[in-house]
Amino acid sequence: MSRCRNAYCSFCRKSYRDVGPLVEGPDGVYICGECIELCTSIIHQEIRRRARSSGPDSAAVEPRAVRAKLDQLIAGQEEAKEALVPAASSRGQSQRPALLVGRSPGSRVLLAKALAHVLEVPFAAGVLQSLAPSPGHGGVACPLLYSLMQAADFDAEAAQRGVVYVEGADGQEAQEALLRLWRRPAVEVATNLQMDVQGVWFICGGRFDGLDDVITRLGRHPEQPLSHDVLTAFGAMQEWVLQLGVIARAAPIDEETLARMVAAVDLRRLGSGTAGHPDS
Ligand SMILES: [Zn+2]
Repeated sequence: MSRCRNAYCSFCRKSYRDVGPLVEGPDGVYICGECIELCTSIIHQEIRRRARSSGPDSAAVEPRAVRAKLDQLIAGQEEAKEALVPAASSRGQSQRPALLVGRSPGSRVLLAKALAHVLEVPFAAGVLQSLAPSPGHGGVACPLLYSLMQAADFDAEAAQRGVVYVEGADGQEAQEALLRLWRRPAVEVATNLQMDVQGVWFICGGRFDGLDDVITRLGRHPEQPLSHDVLTAFGAMQEWVLQLGVIARAAPIDEETLARMVAAVDLRRLGSGTAGHPDS
């Protein structure tokens, strides 16, 4: 401890008079209380970051463990789980988007939310309008990704491994907006806030009304797993379809599952904040 009146903090250059007692190190190095606090918070942040990056959500997660945890939250949904679990278990630097097709938007968003919960990553959900700036959002350029940052407490590294759900992906406008996002290595989320979206897992959903007719027209079995060419034949943009790593049907959600999800997962964040609720 130095009580020397002319001592300065070697880190912030403030004097003993401004910041009070200084801790003295070797060779005339001093540090003030404010800088100690700042250093402590930086180090804690780094420790948390390292704990996370060596945690189960960063590299490969055991598929059986993911499946078991998902089964605890959501009953049934065989097709969706079989398609999503391998993708969830092998998340890497760049994550190919997934598409969930079905009549019930509730089941699609719940599957996405449950996956984020199982993977212990931040989650946000929104509709087409949440991908682009809209009036009244201040400096927010992409409300959906801004919500994801909020869910990650503005820890960019955590957000960049998060899961987002986008409802209404059967519309061409949404497909175009998503392609614009996926093509960019970094997206401006808000003023002075950029985000690398390569590792964010986009799970898209839509009703795709009339898809069954297309499947019949193509002479496919109605319960055969969905493929890229079926979506293209339906009229989805080919460039968008080719981005998809997972395509699956989501069955309607039953009340028992919903009750379990409400008990286990914080559902308030499903459509909160600026992203808008994926309803209809
Ligand atoms: Zn200082």
